[in-house]
Amino acid sequence: MHIDNSLRLDFKDVLIRPKRSTLNSRSDVDITRDFRFLHSPHSYHGVPIIAANMDTTGTFEMAKALDPLLLSTALDKHYSEDELIGFFSGLRRKSAAFYTMGIGSEDWEKFLRVREKAPEAVEYVCVDVANGYTERFVSFIKKLREKCPDIVLMAGNVVTGDMTEELLLAGADIVKIGIGPGSVCLTRKMTGIGYPQLSATIECADAAHGLGGRICADGGCTTPGDIVKAFGAGADFVMIGGMLAAHDECRGKTVVKDGVAYRQFYGMSSEQAMNRWSGGVAGYRASEGKEVFLPSRGPVAATVQEILGGLRSACTYVGARRLKELTLRTTFVRVAQQLNEVFGKS
Ligand code: 5GP
Repeated sequence: MHIDNSLRLDFKDVLIRPKRSTLNSRSDVDITRDFRFLHSPHSYHGVPIIAANMDTTGTFEMAKALDPLLLSTALDKHYSEDELIGFFSGLRRKSAAFYTMGIGSEDWEKFLRVREKAPEAVEYVCVDVANGYTERFVSFIKKLREKCPDIVLMAGNVVTGDMTEELLLAGADIVKIGIGPGSVCLTRKMTGIGYPQLSATIECADAAHGLGGRICADGGCTTPGDIVKAFGAGADFVMIGGMLAAHDECRGKTVVKDGVAYRQFYGMSSEQAMNRWSGGVAGYRASEGKEVFLPSRGPVAATVQEILGGLRSACTYVGARRLKELTLRTTFVRVAQQLNEVFGKS
């Protein structure tokens, strides 16, 4: 047994100190980024925020709504081959959508069939598992990179620098960071496993950038300010689920209670997801996600404008003319416990 006494922080534990700025208006701020990748020859241009590959948020409708705003969507892995081929073949901005898969043999074969039928269509791929620390996962990433040298490959999830490096060396371009911070995730409660998301982002970004890799901070953002903190901590991309849930573009049941419409949102390891996709919770495992009903929020574009407004405003507060400069201009100040309680989750 070992106790690591170093301080690890979450979004709620910090604020960003304002800095002298020459920017006069939020409209002066450029929140797009241009990236080259460690392995893939493709280059990226866009607003590096990605809708989570959950079956509620990773929909074609979400991707169509976010594309004109230059955001991306990691698609739910349960779409059929034909649906995916049709969708990707019609996609002009390739980074608007990630093809998502797990590491089962059926995932591999389905991906190969899609690639064969539509060779140029899929450029961005997300390989997503709850625990990115297994040898099997690393071998899968190596195999995929060997088979497809051109794709932009995002892989995760992990929370430490050593594993971020290992995945990059195995063939990932972007490593997805986050175990346990998700809004409908129960992993920390069910297993005691996790890592505070701000520190995970800082440590993994440092490890990745040293190798020329990228990271995507995934989960735990509940406000635009949390997304700003994730970018300030060094994230190249930020993935969000709950903040985009319950919009018109999402899947999920709608219920009306006392005249108010609520939309269903659930974790991908929840009983609801397992009932839907795997014929129930297997006898040897427990659900690590929960179901919530959130007030319906209408079209997602309005929420995204709010998020991007917060991001632009934060850049003006610290004098960052471009999102790229935000990390350099970020000084986090720790928030005392008392303030933390007053600010709640902000
Ligand atoms: P959010 O933005 O809602 O805080 O977090 C979204 C992220 O939570 C997803 O991208 C995914 O990494 C994670 N997630 C989604 N469903 C589950 C689940 O059922 N269990 C766990 N442990 N994590 C989940």
